[in-house]
Amino acid sequence: MGNQILLLITFLAMTCALVIAFEPSPLQDFCVADTTSSGSYRINGFPCLDSKLATAEHFFFSGLHIPGNTSNPVGGKVTPVNVGQIPGLNTLGISLARIDYAPWGVIPPHTHPRATEILTVLEGSLNVGFVTSNPNNKLISKVLNKGDVFVFPVGLVHYQQNVGNGIAISLSSLSSQNPGVNTIANAVFGSNPAISEDVLAKSFQVDKSVISSIQAKF
Ligand code: MN
Repeated sequence: MGNQILLLITFLAMTCALVIAFEPSPLQDFCVADTTSSGSYRINGFPCLDSKLATAEHFFFSGLHIPGNTSNPVGGKVTPVNVGQIPGLNTLGISLARIDYAPWGVIPPHTHPRATEILTVLEGSLNVGFVTSNPNNKLISKVLNKGDVFVFPVGLVHYQQNVGNGIAISLSSLSSQNPGVNTIANAVFGSNPAISEDVLAKSFQVDKSVISSIQAKF
């Protein structure tokens, strides 16, 4: 009996720790982001607008019916709907994104440092996948069709590709008001200032000329 209580306490403590590790539970109904606040203090998120000044517009976004422009080298476009678009999302730990894909277009390998992503295919078919952490680096991938749903766990490298000759559309929910995006190729080959060619040549086990030709594309 004593052991069971100890187990229960351990489990509850772990659950609390997991909750604290992500966005904390709000301490008020809402905290509309006051992005005009010029105070010198910094908090985790945005300061709250006086709740008496909150209107429906603070919790509203229009335009997710509009396709993103996929005329770019990768053939994919993300339209984010996070705290940057809806100030009322501040402190609430959730956001949304529409993703458009040209035929065979991709959303290149990337991570969200602060969010798990759950994706629904609205149109077309997608090859999606994520890779587990070192040392196994196991690829977990699947072809999805209209209506299918897939999860990308927080922090893991993942990608999507339209595997069809028509357009594709997906809608993602993310477990942060501000998920963040690190696109691997851009971060590694397009950082400012650049990571030294020597570091990248050794890391990727290729000649420096290969590195500089990739860097030139970013
Ligand atoms: Mn993603």
